[in-house]
Amino acid sequence: MIKFLDLKKINQLHSQEISEAIRRVISSGQYILGGEVLDFEKEYADYIGTTFAVGCANGLDAIYLILRAYIELGRLAPGDEVIVPANTYIATINAVIQAGLKPVPVEPDATTLQISPDEIRKSITPQTKALLIVHLYGRCAFSQELADICNEHNLLLIEDNAQAHGCRFGAKRTGSLGNAAAHSFYPGKNLGALGDAGAVTTDDAELAQTVRTLANYGSPEKYIFDYIGRNSRLDEMQAAILSVKLRYLDKENKRRTEIADIYNRGICNPEITLPSPSPEEQNVYHIYPILTPKRNRLQEYLYANGVQTLIHYPVPPHRQKALPQWHTLSLPVTEFIHNSELSLPISPVLTPCEAEYIVKLINEWHS
Ligand SMILES: *Cc1c(COP(=O)(O)O)cnc(C)c1O
Repeated sequence: MIKFLDLKKINQLHSQEISEAIRRVISSGQYILGGEVLDFEKEYADYIGTTFAVGCANGLDAIYLILRAYIELGRLAPGDEVIVPANTYIATINAVIQAGLKPVPVEPDATTLQISPDEIRKSITPQTKALLIVHLYGRCAFSQELADICNEHNLLLIEDNAQAHGCRFGAKRTGSLGNAAAHSFYPGKNLGALGDAGAVTTDDAELAQTVRTLANYGSPEKYIFDYIGRNSRLDEMQAAILSVKLRYLDKENKRRTEIADIYNRGICNPEITLPSPSPEEQNVYHIYPILTPKRNRLQEYLYANGVQTLIHYPVPPHRQKALPQWHTLSLPVTEFIHNSELSLPISPVLTPCEAEYIVKLINEWHS
């Protein structure tokens, strides 16, 4: 069986260095907020191209902490509207609601699958105070047009970079394009820890400090509490492992691009729509999404032939039990994507030979 994502194989590539990192942490005697976290924060900020990176417990918290910090700093107020893509992973929306703000879902463009600038313009109200973009599937969602919209309407631009570590826009990386960015290092992401981990990147010193404080019980110094904060710290073990894996991120993203190239050039089945072309380097292929009206049948066929695929995502947020206030919304593009998307295996350990086999299977398929 060709697995959708073989995490064991991915981490075994680095098992020696990871083991050394873990041993170093064990013998340091310091397991929370020590030198490993500071080192990783510096390396990650350098990599993304921001002045600051602040570690935290996971990607959901990273988004939440940014929004909470803006509230504490008076840049956002409870009840403000935050525009989000309608076709995102639920964490993006949860974080906005948990911070006491109002997420406003906006339809994607049907070809790029990224939030549509035209639809954003239609959704802006006097209460809109921030735009939270998601570089979904590893593809850059940012454009000069989005920056212009934010300038015109005085909106904060926040990036959810959970799926796009290493992706570029021109000379800059995603995670450095707006006011602040949230990153998840969940094991399955392009930069994955061996457990939960996350970070916030920004050039704003005040924001970085507030995020750091909020993530540590609202405590700017020991036993002093400025806010009702959370415990959302990145631990030393995950930070040490992430420092190892960060060194291989560009190389591993390049392998993903090579696999995507094989799919892009090889798949020619009229029943299947491939991801629309994206400017080079603006896609790190966290996911390789194809669209087909007979998605479930294709998934069964591939599975019967030894290929595991996933659906990102089977049920859109506005159809979830958790969001009853969204059940009456009409979001046809989002529904179309959720009904026809299928994610092919893609990872730094998938071989070109396996990708060619998947191409052959797909080209032989008729619904
Ligand atoms: C994974 C993911 C998150 C959440 O990250 P966790 O570390 O699992 O909390 C947020 N947004 C998007 C788009 C994601 O894919």
